[in-house]
Amino acid sequence: APGAAARGKPRLLLMGQRRSGKSSISSVVFHKMPPNETLFLESTARIQKDSMHSFMDFQVWDFPGQVDFMDPSFDLDAIFGEIGALIWVIDAQDEYVEAINRLNSTILNLQSSGYSAINIEVFIHKVDGLSDDYKLDIQRDVTQRIQDELSDHGFENAPINFHLTSIYNHSIFEAFSKVIQKLIPHLPYLEALLNNCCQKSGFEKAYLFDVLSKIYIATDSSPVDMPSYEICSDYIDVIVDVSEIYGWNRPAEYISFLEGAPWNKKLEDQVACKDAESCIVLTDGRRPIILREVNKYLALVAVVREGAYSKMPDIIENVNVTVGGLLEIFEITRRPKTRA
Ligand code: GDP
Repeated sequence: APGAAARGKPRLLLMGQRRSGKSSISSVVFHKMPPNETLFLESTARIQKDSMHSFMDFQVWDFPGQVDFMDPSFDLDAIFGEIGALIWVIDAQDEYVEAINRLNSTILNLQSSGYSAINIEVFIHKVDGLSDDYKLDIQRDVTQRIQDELSDHGFENAPINFHLTSIYNHSIFEAFSKVIQKLIPHLPYLEALLNNCCQKSGFEKAYLFDVLSKIYIATDSSPVDMPSYEICSDYIDVIVDVSEIYGWNRPAEYISFLEGAPWNKKLEDQVACKDAESCIVLTDGRRPIILREVNKYLALVAVVREGAYSKMPDIIENVNVTVGGLLEIFEITRRPKTRA
């Protein structure tokens, strides 16, 4: 079947024991549910295929009994064939030894049945309310239990990563960003474009966001700081909300009247730009934030250095060039796959 991989979407599978937090994670990250409301969610009882308007393709599997590696009629390829990453959710507030045993046997099975390239991403979840020391203790313990078991079976370098997550703060989005970045082909090229754009335009930080989930799939190479990520991610909400109320379409005469010189050097370019574009100035540090739609899933959001207004026409032009470059990279990524 022409699955997600054929459309060039990275595919993620979320697994873990019942009540570990899978439905909550997918509701908060992909359906904008406020974290408190997950208390009333019904537990995942079946395979959920979450097909939505996101850059990535995402499935949730409840653990108990669903994957029987020994059953010859079970089509492993249908589940794992196109998967880029398997996210395994462990409830850090609960007794987790059984969860780890299941995870270990799943990893061993994947390693020995030809799916050893799948990234295993362990979300040590619900760490809100735990002290920093305790979180690190748990992470150390979980890591140890998994690595011991694998090296007992002769697997020393299985691709396993650990993340401390909670739906009550941005850690869950940060973890997804790290997971997804490993699956993006040509990531260094995306980063180089963003670096270049930051340097030329005087941006403090630039993120390429999946608009629906607000997971960033690439950023420039300066360190990620939580405040800039949160501001950019909240700004996407603002723009999406305003656009939903007032519509996405802008008549050509508005564009020429409101978005011409002195903001833009070349009016023709602007008329050709049908994508959402916006800029807001924060009063705290007087730093502008810029958002520019890239395609139907992605947006470029950047924090501009203070006092960059005078350079705004150049900035808009740089952003246009960067968006063109990003689209070209995605085009290159897609081509060989459609031919196959
Ligand atoms: P599932 O069976 O794996 O889909 O688990 P659910 O998503 O139904 O979650 C089970 C319970 O865990 C719910 O009451 C959630 O509110 C709670 N939960 C999920 N994520 C978190 C988290 O990050 N922190 C805390 N404290 N509770 C969470």
